[in-house]
Amino acid sequence: MDYGELLSEAMEAARPVLGRGAPADYIPALACADPADFGMALATVDGEVHGVGEWRKAFSIQSVSKLFALALALSHGGTTLWQRVGREPSGNPFNSLIQLESEHGIPRNPFINAGALVVTDALLSLTGDARGAVVDFLRAESGNMSIDTDHAIAASEAGHGHRNAALAHFMASFGNLHNEVEEVLEHYFAQCSISADCRDLALAGSFLARHGLRADGSRLLGRGDAKRINAVLLTCGTYDAAGEFAYRVGLPGKSGVGGGILAIVPGRGAICAWSPGLDAVGNSVGAMAALEDFTSRSDWSVF
Ligand code: GLN
Repeated sequence: MDYGELLSEAMEAARPVLGRGAPADYIPALACADPADFGMALATVDGEVHGVGEWRKAFSIQSVSKLFALALALSHGGTTLWQRVGREPSGNPFNSLIQLESEHGIPRNPFINAGALVVTDALLSLTGDARGAVVDFLRAESGNMSIDTDHAIAASEAGHGHRNAALAHFMASFGNLHNEVEEVLEHYFAQCSISADCRDLALAGSFLARHGLRADGSRLLGRGDAKRINAVLLTCGTYDAAGEFAYRVGLPGKSGVGGGILAIVPGRGAICAWSPGLDAVGNSVGAMAALEDFTSRSDWSVF
């Protein structure tokens, strides 16, 4: 299969919508991104990589980090995690407070902000450094030692993070955060503010295509946990547009408000597409279009 050709065609298919939507501006440091920027990369399960457009341009990974935090928490033995966070689609915006009160401080799933805060809290308890665990994993899987938190973006998030602080304090009132709220928020903002490019994320996501095996062949997760994470990505990874994403792209995927979407094709590899222009729900317009085209014309699909 000529992956370079398929990726170029996916970029051409996305071109008419590039520039549509707007970068996230509730985190001021993200607002200056160019909505028309675009990059896409795929990594096969054997580590072969192809890319197109600005695939080597680093961007803020934001909620894509939630996938790695969850995998790492489970790999460190976070067996009680599923008592503290559910695995149902929320049908609400990623930063919504609405279900938490009636559901007693247990977030619907690990990919909305409330659920991700619980996961970061668990990872902090298990490792002592949640942000560091995510950075180390991304560096090891991609071989790119320059991956790090962008501290200006982390500071911008922290300065405007009232909603996340509200979610965290609310869950703490139910006893569903075990560390200090301020420390959990600091790690969460720092984890979301990691900068990495499409190549890095495609390589780092490939463990889910390899059924839990890392790039060096060692096992991060059992097959069962890898399967479960892919399943929850499919149903909950793109917020309240998970149904639309499943319909158009048909893959487990995780989006972030930096404009990245990382999608997994079990047994084949991982694809990361990025463009900062977001739709009303917070998913990248250009990345969705490119992934839809790619999965419609290649045999990289689960359906
Ligand atoms: N850091 C962002 C937030 O907490 C992540 C949201 C996202 O990418 N959907 O709001």
